[in-house]
Amino acid sequence: MYWNKEMECMPPEQRRKLQLERLQNLVRRVYENVPHYQRVLREAGIRPGDVQSLDDLAHLPFTTKDDLRRTYPFGLFATPLQNTVRVHASSGTTGKPTVVGYTRQDVDTWSEVMARTLSCAGTKQDDVVQIAYGYGLFTGGLGVHYGAEKIGATVVPVSVGNTKRQIMLMQDFGTTVLACTPSYALHLAEVLEESGADRSRIRLRVGVFGAEPWTQQLGREIENKLNVVAIDIFGLSEIIGPGVASECLYNAGLHLFDDHFLPEIIDPETGRQLPPGEEGELVITTLTKEAFPLIRYRTRDITRLFVEPCPCGRTHVRMSKIMGRTDDMLIIRGVNVFPSQVESALLEIGQAEPHYLLVVDRSGPLDQLEIWVEVSEKVFADEVRRLEALGKTIQREIEGTLGIGVKVKLVEPKTIERSQGKAKRVVDKRDVYNKNQ
Ligand code: ADP
Ligand code: ZN
Repeated sequence: MYWNKEMECMPPEQRRKLQLERLQNLVRRVYENVPHYQRVLREAGIRPGDVQSLDDLAHLPFTTKDDLRRTYPFGLFATPLQNTVRVHASSGTTGKPTVVGYTRQDVDTWSEVMARTLSCAGTKQDDVVQIAYGYGLFTGGLGVHYGAEKIGATVVPVSVGNTKRQIMLMQDFGTTVLACTPSYALHLAEVLEESGADRSRIRLRVGVFGAEPWTQQLGREIENKLNVVAIDIFGLSEIIGPGVASECLYNAGLHLFDDHFLPEIIDPETGRQLPPGEEGELVITTLTKEAFPLIRYRTRDITRLFVEPCPCGRTHVRMSKIMGRTDDMLIIRGVNVFPSQVESALLEIGQAEPHYLLVVDRSGPLDQLEIWVEVSEKVFADEVRRLEALGKTIQREIEGTLGIGVKVKLVEPKTIERSQGKAKRVVDKRDVYNKNQ
């Protein structure tokens, strides 16, 4: 079910024309209104009129997270502050957060792409949407909120946390759509199980999960435990928040709303554009944003784009599930490791719980990767011999996937911290070591 059939099913050729018009307009706007862009475009020898085709995008300079930090807080805004009706900020785990702004039109655009996202998941006016993403400077809560209201669904803006109350509301209000991070969905499923709540009073049908990487295997776990269809939704505050791309009910990659967000994949080392199908860093140009437009923003997210049509009829370019972020990638003895690879190997075996942690340490000159894996009470209480055998199986599977030796430690239920927002999958003790050098 489409939200905006004209845009979502537009013939690709026609969409390319629209993208070019919007790109030309964007370059003109940032050149005239944002000193940073005027400077970097001049340095690159580019004038607004030089953009003649979509291929010219490759000549434009990248924008990076560092550019955002350097211009903190409002330096990249393209409209006066009085036209900015909202600001949000990323979590900013290291130092100052990155601040983004919206005009009234931007908030409308955001609601539109979130209405599309929720429609991709089959949400309709008679749905009850429980939003357990955090509200506040984080874009998750309010992003989903505006989209769900636009559709006319009944919004329950409960925000994150207080899991028992979430379950109570879910039962009493007849929630049909749950929006939260996949790791919180798992936690909710766990608490639901333990509480012995009456399942027949739960009407959940679909979950719109995002804000962190999660594998297809984890999706299946959540689907089984919560009895929902798990839909992957993607976005980042710099680009708009959630609403950049979404899976449809065919579960065949995420539709990237490329009438608003123009994507490219580049080789993160060389910055060179890569053709459809190849894996690399996702780069996005915001074609319509007014307050905080970005040219070729390097998301640091790793994925692939593909252009084949989807059975649902939407013609947007699709991206595969995000594999991880370049800054979450661990380099262990020279080999690149993403937590998602461990997750899929682990869940493939089917005997471990979907709770794991990668602990990296250094012994002498060598990096060591230890993987903590939770097993159920029953398995943990099993004979030592059987537990050891399971540990070995998991170790072999993960080593086969990663191509490096690892240690596996099976731990008791609840050893690994549960997450309300974005899960923490890695503890890198080498950082401490490096700092002490
Ligand atoms: P930050 O995490 O930097 O504080 P955001 O809250 O805007 O800022 O998070 C955006 C990031 O979250 C994305 O760049 C991506 O790494 C991750 N993310 C969001 N949605 C998904 C998703 N569906 N799958 C994987 N990663 C996601
Ligand atoms: Zn589709």
